[in-house]
Amino acid sequence: MPEQLLTALKQIFGYSSWRDGQAEIIAAALAGRDCFVLLPTGGGKSLCYQLPALQLPKVTVVVSPLMSLMKDQVDTLQANGIAAAYVNSSLSREAVLEVLNQLRYDELKLLYVAPERLLQPQFIERLQEVGVSLFAIDEAHCVSQWGHDFRPDYMALAQLRQHFPGVPVMALTATADPATQQDIVQQLALQQPFIHRGSFDRPNIRYTVQEKFRPLEQLLAYLKQQENHSGIIYCSSRRKVDELTAQLQEKGFKAAAYHAGHDATHRQQVQDAFKRDDLALIVATVAFGMGVDKPNIRFVVHFELPRTIEAYYQETGRAGRDGVAAEALLLFDPADIGRMKRWLQTEENNLRAEVTWQRFLSMAAFAEAQTCRRLVLLNYFGEARQQPCGNCDICLNPPQRFDGTELAQKALSCVYRVNQNFGLHHVIEVLRGSQSQKVLDLGHDKLSTWGLGKELSHDYWLSIFRQLIHHGLLQQDISHHSVLRLLPVARPILRGEQRLQLAVPRLQSAPKMASSKL
Ligand code: ADP
Ligand code: ZN
Repeated sequence: MPEQLLTALKQIFGYSSWRDGQAEIIAAALAGRDCFVLLPTGGGKSLCYQLPALQLPKVTVVVSPLMSLMKDQVDTLQANGIAAAYVNSSLSREAVLEVLNQLRYDELKLLYVAPERLLQPQFIERLQEVGVSLFAIDEAHCVSQWGHDFRPDYMALAQLRQHFPGVPVMALTATADPATQQDIVQQLALQQPFIHRGSFDRPNIRYTVQEKFRPLEQLLAYLKQQENHSGIIYCSSRRKVDELTAQLQEKGFKAAAYHAGHDATHRQQVQDAFKRDDLALIVATVAFGMGVDKPNIRFVVHFELPRTIEAYYQETGRAGRDGVAAEALLLFDPADIGRMKRWLQTEENNLRAEVTWQRFLSMAAFAEAQTCRRLVLLNYFGEARQQPCGNCDICLNPPQRFDGTELAQKALSCVYRVNQNFGLHHVIEVLRGSQSQKVLDLGHDKLSTWGLGKELSHDYWLSIFRQLIHHGLLQQDISHHSVLRLLPVARPILRGEQRLQLAVPRLQSAPKMASSKL
């Protein structure tokens, strides 16, 4: 069996070996098991359903939210002689009928569909008539309200199970924290799925965060060290992109702007010039990057705080695809946090606003972290790690450290005493011996940990708790009002079997310059 699959890999796809997880995932899919696949972008997820699709008797239906990627994949498959087609709202009625005909005559191995199309009754009926071998749900995090990219159309995919009992489902995603992962498995009703979680580590990327004082000067100083290497500079608005591009051009840099306000021709030109190395710098909004496959991007700068760790990870992940050393620089202004909060208060949907806020706070916490950046990232994605990386600003230029075991014990036992049912600020209130109405009402002033930490300020504790989260001892449950939960690694510390080094909190924020604007 594996031999035959390897032959198929070589002959059909032209690859000589498997990437991490592919062989196991494909074997499980062919054995008819549900699968949950978590692999970073570029990890080779498509192959996990494309290869089984060719071996299975009936059609494999791939659900994807991204129309352009759908077309690209189908074009590539067809160019390789594989019977594939797609159906989405960009197709004419005739084209859709043509695809349905191909389906009827069993001429398709792979059918890509947008979720809203898949769930139309006629479509379901047609698929039931011809029979489906496998459903692959790409970008599966879109199904979760806790995910960073929830799409209502995806939610209805839960019905697939009723329409197609016994047809295995493979859920694939590149970005999912533990809460989202669980939710995907639940929403799609995966039955004892085969689970593969690939590593999200990108060891050749060096993560650095600088507090933002005079952003343009800081950026220019940074770019001067980069000589003429390729880089992307991300900003949060089109206006900022245009402004910064002009400033960089004025200083003699070969830079171009890229955002969704430009027409397709301009965007293509910029992208091509960048790819050919005619253009060193792209200043862009999040619109830039999807499907950009340039291996020698040496650095990615975030001029403003990204909205989520997922976005930060994706965007920085565009650097160093060739495996050669690359850098990710984030310029961080703590005031961005307040700005985001005000912006969110204008949002309508409360649950979404809450989730967005919590995700943003995780991003802010990353920027404020006193812990190895890579540890923070990987623990956020649920990839338990304890060894600092040696290739980030914190590892290379470490903050002052002290034995934080006792503080950690106080903090962790307080989380335990409140039944792992409260968030950061409440637990700190209890530790600091607050007599607030909430503390009194809950009887938390009677807990043995009440007042244990009253000699330290709220901010000091906040820094300690953030470090415990970043070290993977505590987790904030995004699906549950961000309540703090203890993770198994906390146990030896609570029992006094292991000691813990923490960073002395850097509370004094550096002097604010008169103008933090450009
Ligand atoms: P993802 O969907 O996880 O982002 P893709 O499926 O697009 O990743 O694959 C990323 C790249 O890796 C593609 O160019 C693909 O052709 C290539 N690839 C996938 N599997 C293998 C393999 N086993 N060997 C070599 N290249 C592979
Ligand atoms: Zn590190």
